[in-house]
Amino acid sequence: MSQGEVLHSDAGHEQTMVIVGAGHAGGRAALTLREAGFAGRILLIGDESHLPYERPPLSKALLKGESSLAACSLFSEASFIASGIEHISGVRVTGIDPAQHRLTLNDGVALSYSKLLLATGGQSRSLDLGGRVFSNVQYLRTFDEAVGLQQRLTPGSRLLVIGGGFIGLEVASSARDLGCEVTVLEAGARLAARALPERVSEALLTLHRRKGVVIELGAQIAAFHGSDRLESVQLVSGQRLGCDVLLVGIGMQPNLDLALHAGLATGSGIQVDGFLQTSAPDVYAAGDVCEFARADGGFHRQETWRNAEAQGRLAALNMLGQRQLFTGVPGFWSDHYEFGLQTVGTLAPGARVIQREYADAGFVLFYLDQHSRLLGASGWGAGNSIAKDIKLCERLIESQVELPLAPLADAGVSLKGLLRGAHV
Ligand code: FAD
Ligand code: NAP
Repeated sequence: MSQGEVLHSDAGHEQTMVIVGAGHAGGRAALTLREAGFAGRILLIGDESHLPYERPPLSKALLKGESSLAACSLFSEASFIASGIEHISGVRVTGIDPAQHRLTLNDGVALSYSKLLLATGGQSRSLDLGGRVFSNVQYLRTFDEAVGLQQRLTPGSRLLVIGGGFIGLEVASSARDLGCEVTVLEAGARLAARALPERVSEALLTLHRRKGVVIELGAQIAAFHGSDRLESVQLVSGQRLGCDVLLVGIGMQPNLDLALHAGLATGSGIQVDGFLQTSAPDVYAAGDVCEFARADGGFHRQETWRNAEAQGRLAALNMLGQRQLFTGVPGFWSDHYEFGLQTVGTLAPGARVIQREYADAGFVLFYLDQHSRLLGASGWGAGNSIAKDIKLCERLIESQVELPLAPLADAGVSLKGLLRGAHV
């Protein structure tokens, strides 16, 4: 296509669905449109050069060389071609015009759409290095960045991590398994404080320290030393920490530019109603970038695999006119060495918390409302040991059954029994 050419992308078809962002939510939406019987044109536009893939392995199996891009991909090249979805890769959407049902690409091409999904995800939050650029400072959001980081994580290399959140700690775990020396600097008083209960933060801290990771909580950085390469980071305390590679994992920022410039309602994400529809007609949003309306009137944004999967699917169905409300229970997991944590539902501040201890030192914390109904649960254990109970917690949250406190705290009592009301 030549620059400035307007492609009437719905020519010859009843409708053209355009998806901006070929990540998890976008890829899932494209596939769902086809699976649900949509016979028109589907354009999936993404600025990465790969087929849509899942990001969780980037900090785990893939970083350790135990997985591949093909294994992380949402679908194989062959099934993608068979689905007839047109994937425009390595291309950025630079503007959308909801009134005209048009969008523009960075090569000047303009497209028209019948329905549009914004699944633009987010980008790593940048660390302020005082305007300096060092060749050994890494971020981790994309497959290409994971490959770059993996090449630096050689046995004995010194990895310094800024940010004791999910990326920082999962990479610390993978890097220790690869034989690196690892130090984590976390500005807050505990690890992953925004997403996890104190007890899970404590379990993470104990495990990582036992595995030989040096963790500084409340770390305040005074200076970065080096020329082309970063040589060391100096803390306010005067301590100087040398490094071969610095990984920055200080959070992500949703990609809101398209929505902002088009005048769509935004808050901490692109605001949508219960059907994932934005303030503009025929424009939907899903995944990390989407801030959805909750039943209590507020808005909420999630940054999880589960949310991208569920919203990608639901947005597609609603683009086809199904009018399905988003009611997904939130949840996420995180893996560290041979341990894992899982959370489901809402860990509401002020909720009553009941603890269940397992024989292998794992535990689950149950968050209850004033009627002893489950709001959320968060657990920690070896391998996948708590997965079954967390799954049952999801069903308990959905059932809204009133729970007896003593059996809940007793690991000998089956949660399945509580679900059936056996102990009530
Ligand atoms: P993304 O996957 O970010 O996809 C958005 C895509 O849109 C990107 O490819 C982006 O480049 C593209 N894009 C943006 N703007 C434009 C534009 N203007 N034009 C064209 N393309 C554009 N969650 C869990 O629950 N458990 C985990 O263990 C876990 N591990 C993770 C590990 C890592 C390293 C990372 C980075 C995330 C992890 N997550 C995990 C979070 C999960 O991967 C995200 O919530 C999920 O990827 C969000 O999907 P998305 O489709 O909304 O966004
Ligand atoms: P994150 O989970 O938000 O953690 C960032 C951490 O860095 C927070 O503890 C934050 O503290 C801290 N921090 C912020 N600024 C800092 C500074 N200047 N110095 C030191 N510490 C600082 O974000 P992330 O780990 O970077 O992950 C990015 C995205 O990937 C998120 O969307 C995350 O959900 C996703 N991800 C998820 C998983 C998973 O679910 N298993 C795994 C990997 C990645 P404050 O909270 O006090 O700001």
